[in-house]
Amino acid sequence: MVQAVVGANWGDEGKGKITDMLAENADIIVRFQGGANAGHTIVNNYGKFALHTLPSGVFYDHTTSIIGNGVALNIPILFGEIKSITDKGVPTPKILVSDRAQMVMPYHILFDEYEEERLGKKSFGSTKSGIAPFYSDKYAKIGFQVSELFGEESALREKIERVILSKNILLEHLYHKPLIDVDETLNTLMEYKKMVEPYVCDVSAYLWNAIKEGKNILLEGQLGSLKDPDHGIYPMVTSSSTLAAYGAIGAGIPPYEISKIITVVKAYSSAVGAGAFVSEIFGDEADELRRRGGDGGEFGATTGRPRRMGWFDCVATRYGCRIQGTTDVAFTVLDVLGYLDEIPVCVGYEIDGVVTNDFPTTDKLEKAKPVLKNLPGWKEDIRGIKEYNKLPENCRKYIEFIEEQIGFPITMVSNGPKREDIIIREK
Ligand code: GDP
Repeated sequence: MVQAVVGANWGDEGKGKITDMLAENADIIVRFQGGANAGHTIVNNYGKFALHTLPSGVFYDHTTSIIGNGVALNIPILFGEIKSITDKGVPTPKILVSDRAQMVMPYHILFDEYEEERLGKKSFGSTKSGIAPFYSDKYAKIGFQVSELFGEESALREKIERVILSKNILLEHLYHKPLIDVDETLNTLMEYKKMVEPYVCDVSAYLWNAIKEGKNILLEGQLGSLKDPDHGIYPMVTSSSTLAAYGAIGAGIPPYEISKIITVVKAYSSAVGAGAFVSEIFGDEADELRRRGGDGGEFGATTGRPRRMGWFDCVATRYGCRIQGTTDVAFTVLDVLGYLDEIPVCVGYEIDGVVTNDFPTTDKLEKAKPVLKNLPGWKEDIRGIKEYNKLPENCRKYIEFIEEQIGFPITMVSNGPKREDIIIREK
């Protein structure tokens, strides 16, 4: 059985925690898109970890962790991450890397930095991990697949020369930065080859056999629906699809095998980077939610920068769940809201004087004002509660109101950052 764990919003919904929890009963966990630009924070019996490239199931010794072909693979970061977890006593994980995954090149990171610098106030708020230049090159057919490391060195050198020629023209004339050297790039790739060699395999063939053997497979998404390049808030999106459907492509499995799509939805909103964020809040109200949010505050796992904060957005989340093809919603970080007397929820968007429940395209989104409804708070610490019926009444009402608004079943409620802080809802 294949299940996908994906986000409904702007990312940081707590997918890492849900994947880590579900991985207990999984054999294989696959990352299928994105790169080291976003992070999952996981708290378990080994400690607290920020993972960027490794799948969140990496802490169990019965699981195999896979980097699928859809990932932007930054080899030094992957190896740094493996070391950071084994240094803390986690058993060496079983890792497989797709021979069709493409590599983030050192110059992708530089181009990301230079372009953001060039754009100035119009920048995307990139994490400068090289993701946009990486995917641009992939689709311009000038990217480097892991498999190419194992072919003829002369062919690799010839390709590097060809690619670098045009990169250097941009570096010299657009960015006015130092040029890239062919030998240095080739040497770097040869270093990458040594690092990655023990892990490389035909991942889609491996997964095909695993599916036939009835293994439990989790596909772990990065970011959320609203950052999808097609269905999100373009152009303030990421550069690879964040949708469960892409899980089939980025892992190399048949689409019909994905039978459960668990969409992770956070009990309030947060976002990183630029772009429209209709239910955003500011000032003291935002500071307090940011300080109390997540596990130790809402600050980026990759950059440490403060996240933008907002109230729960029913319009965006209904859309985000629909576009994922949600079968189950995991509703997370609910414990954080226990300090509020009343909890505002965004139930509609007012655009040019008309209220809508439909999530619009970006041009209209920029004009949208939130229509808020206040729900009563529960003013209680709900951590440690294990049964749905033991939650305070107003807390259940909050969950049920949101469930009705978004139109997808909330089957899991997360009431704390730890693996065991979860309420499975009997329906
Ligand atoms: P991801 O990228 O979707 O995995 O999300 P992040 O890891 O960036 O952000 C989620 C944050 O919330 C992390 O710090 C988690 O430890 C934390 N978290 C996850 N679920 C819960 C929860 O139910 N309650 C609290 N308080 N924190 C949670």
